[in-house]
Amino acid sequence: MFLHDKFGRAITDLRISITDRCNYKCVYCRTGNEGALYGDLPFEDYLRMARVLVGMGITKVRLTGGEPLLRKGVVDFVRELAELRRPNGSNGEPLDIALTTNGHMLAELAQPLKDAGLSRVTVSMDAVDPDRFARITRVPNGYDNVLAGIRAARRAGLWPLKVNCVLMRGFNEDQIIPFGMFAREEGVTVRFIEFMPLEEGRTWAPSTVVTLDEILARMAEYRPLVEIPHARSETARRYRFEDGVGEIGIIAPVSHPFCGHCSRIRITSDGKIRTCLFSVWDHDLHAQMRRGASDEDLAEFIQGVVQKKEERHHIGEADFVPASRTMVHIGG
Ligand code: SAM
Repeated sequence: MFLHDKFGRAITDLRISITDRCNYKCVYCRTGNEGALYGDLPFEDYLRMARVLVGMGITKVRLTGGEPLLRKGVVDFVRELAELRRPNGSNGEPLDIALTTNGHMLAELAQPLKDAGLSRVTVSMDAVDPDRFARITRVPNGYDNVLAGIRAARRAGLWPLKVNCVLMRGFNEDQIIPFGMFAREEGVTVRFIEFMPLEEGRTWAPSTVVTLDEILARMAEYRPLVEIPHARSETARRYRFEDGVGEIGIIAPVSHPFCGHCSRIRITSDGKIRTCLFSVWDHDLHAQMRRGASDEDLAEFIQGVVQKKEERHHIGEADFVPASRTMVHIGG
């Protein structure tokens, strides 16, 4: 049993933002204000939402933020999520539980998270040079922490380990080849992400996007790449180096949109459902809970919301309307 939207897409992936606070101020994301705009909920509320959604066919839950590791109790929350079982018909299989983090606090948390039942981790890292890293994140001395976090995650067996790099012209397009080397040396999959207009600073313009074609051309100057077949619902196009050492991915929502295969739904830190990163509204699931809705009522509400999932985004088109929240307040 799966949730389907009105375009026939199966909704199998849930992203839950557990805080919209962040300790980094990445240039493509935040302007630098410290506090959370929307706040967060007790973990038991996210757990109930997840339980209802898993009962409706969700197979994968990714925790995100803000910075999810800022939230005390995240390890216990992962343990509770890991106890959820998919409904009959899927043989009660465990959930795939993933986490997206800036990695700053991962070194000490990787093993406890793995022990609690986390399956995989994605670490955001936008330069392999400490000075450039500090310029992008606007935090001094973060680079060593993140590198230590990546290595601790690998030791803990949080695998496959992905490193996400948002490329923004003028900041880090010269990091493409260094990241190719990094993927080979560290044994991680580096995924380049095209910059999307979801930043607080409203600096996005088509010219700031480093596109898939450009990334491939640049990497080919370093070493030949071979494309790896990927699942339709996968966001990243995957490539390995011709000699078999190292894998990279490219997530190209701007130049090669993949909305037709989107399987995601998001819950914000304040308990709203978002059906698309670029939605201009959200749907207040937590308000239903506050009103005393039963699990069946929540499932009915979610069914209705999923039918409103947008067909596609309109980035770069004349009718583009900015999303009603920026990335840090949605959960990427
Ligand atoms: N703090 C965590 C982290 O740094 O991974 C999780 C939240 S962060 C908002 C999730 C992902 O969104 C990160 O990989 C980040 O690089 C990406 N992101 C943020 N703003 C973006 C933008 N304007 N365009 C593309 N990706 C963006």
